[in-house]
Amino acid sequence: MTRPAIFIDRDGTLSEEVGYINHLSRFRMLPFAVDAVRLVNQSGWLAVVVTNQAGVARGYFPETLVTAVHDRVREHMTAGGARLDGIFYCPHHPTAGDAPYRQDCECRKPKPGLLRQAAGELGIDLARSWMIGDRYADVQVAWAVGARGALVRTGYGEGELAHKAAGWPRPPDLVAANLLQAVSHVLHGTPSA
Ligand SMILES: [Mg+2]
Ligand SMILES: [Zn+2]
Repeated sequence: MTRPAIFIDRDGTLSEEVGYINHLSRFRMLPFAVDAVRLVNQSGWLAVVVTNQAGVARGYFPETLVTAVHDRVREHMTAGGARLDGIFYCPHHPTAGDAPYRQDCECRKPKPGLLRQAAGELGIDLARSWMIGDRYADVQVAWAVGARGALVRTGYGEGELAHKAAGWPRPPDLVAANLLQAVSHVLHGTPSA
């Protein structure tokens, strides 16, 4: 049996967008992030983080820092009674850095590799799933796997809407103030109170 998932972008969606997180001290969860994930848990859907971390390929920080940040994310979730079913990241960049990180991979959003990997490992029904993020690439990756895409106004989202939306061939399936509002709308059809 497969279940639908809510795929969640990391920087700008689950945590503050502060540029490259090249030290653990720069990482800050957004205040509603744990509540949003707990809401997903309660619904029976899977909650899966998918994030591009090209700073690894660019040599700005080691891959061990990415996993340390994700350990921190899981600690926050556990402390708040929430759980992520998976965290998948792409450390690559098509033109920057050295092999093996320098490669035109299939997992850098908006390519669908991370979502397909998660679907295979966790048993996800992609057609019933959503991806929520603060960049149009997050919406595009949803469409690339037949899912639906929501854009949040946190992180780069407000600027994406202000400066880029006119050029988008297709609008996001949902625009929401933040991750909690988006999750609430997807699961219950209404913004959270
Ligand atoms: Mg982002
Ligand atoms: Zn990749």
